[in-house]
Amino acid sequence: MRIVDIIEKKRDNLVLSEKEITYVIKHYSIGEVPDYQMSALLMAIYFNGMNKEETSYLVREMLLSGDVIDLSKLEGTKLDKHSTGGVGDKTSLVIGPLVAACGAKLAKMSGRGLGHTGGTLDKLEAIKGFNIHLTEEQFFKQVNEIGVAIVGQTKNLVPADKLLYALRDVTATVPSIPLIAASIMSKKLASGSDKIVLDVKVGSGAFMTNLDDAEELANAMVEIGDSFGKEVVAVLSNMDQPLGEAIGNALEVKEAIKTLKGHGPADFTKLCFELTEELLTLAGINNGKELIEKAVASGAAYQKFLDMIEAQGGSVEQIETDTLPKAKKIVKYYPTANGYITAIDTKEIGRAAMLLGAGRASKDDVIDMAVGLISKAKLGLLVNTKESLIEIHANGDYKEVIEVLNNAITIGSEIISKPIIYKKIRKES
Ligand code: URA
Repeated sequence: MRIVDIIEKKRDNLVLSEKEITYVIKHYSIGEVPDYQMSALLMAIYFNGMNKEETSYLVREMLLSGDVIDLSKLEGTKLDKHSTGGVGDKTSLVIGPLVAACGAKLAKMSGRGLGHTGGTLDKLEAIKGFNIHLTEEQFFKQVNEIGVAIVGQTKNLVPADKLLYALRDVTATVPSIPLIAASIMSKKLASGSDKIVLDVKVGSGAFMTNLDDAEELANAMVEIGDSFGKEVVAVLSNMDQPLGEAIGNALEVKEAIKTLKGHGPADFTKLCFELTEELLTLAGINNGKELIEKAVASGAAYQKFLDMIEAQGGSVEQIETDTLPKAKKIVKYYPTANGYITAIDTKEIGRAAMLLGAGRASKDDVIDMAVGLISKAKLGLLVNTKESLIEIHANGDYKEVIEVLNNAITIGSEIISKPIIYKKIRKES
């Protein structure tokens, strides 16, 4: 088999066979297919797509490139959730403890942020001492005892994805539906859970900027899950504005805590509660809504958060005394005009937080845990030039951030309104 023939076939929009896909992934993973040929193939896939069978072969081969975690030592249904990535997306920090407080178990492997999107691990590391590297034994023990653990992915979890993702990142081939579906689902399947809720983000801060593409991606992932015997529910949610108000690591931890105590922003609270309810339903718990409300009102959800922090070596005192990292300056940002917010370039808002130091431009950058934004900006909000819309939490220069924010927020006369959740997709039985 020759890689050039496989590239040519995909270039000409023909369907690749199981053998061809297996060959490419196997040989690329061991360094026998050079990056220039893999790049050409990725671009051909970007333009011509892959059908259901091709995508399924790709997932299986990626999955088999590394370890498949055996979660059988965990009692009960093993739940997992995954977000396709957005701005201000701290849902896992709320959903994990909330699921546990309602009597189910979430064994979660999370990632770090790159580019304009944040990562759960970085947020948790804003808490002094928090350890994302548990041994398998510690991980199982914690999930069995507390009901939740959030850790980093093991080094050998889908190594083919690590290589492919890095290459896609520099060859403009990330936003391809079969490639995203295979990347996410290979990792979810390798993580070993039984039932998965996917939060598929749609809008200006997401990989999928329109509803049709997001729906196609969601359907592809639900299908993949089904073909591997896993129940998957995809929730399509709004990323045309940052989720909640906080963007930046310590600021997002604080907002997650507020939400667990029942005082979070409305959009963020609604999404967290709905995703949790879906997870509980998958675990066979049918009065989820009621349990969630009780867990929040009684303080049980917040207590689970503290239990998780303590079990993973984090400082509970720092949380209870509100001494998470704080920026030196809080600068008020004012809108450039009076009127309604008609559009938000959410990716640019994420970039503004990154410019402050809240994220990484490349994987070796060091994050400033204290900095970020507290933004009230939502579509349809009536604003004026005299009332501050965003707090900029900075430890250094913020001039460019103001310019980015000026360009990211459009103000006009139309009142735009979009729901936080567009649709839920599941396999009908
Ligand atoms: N998240 C992933 O894990 N992979 C992608 O390809 C896109 C988002």
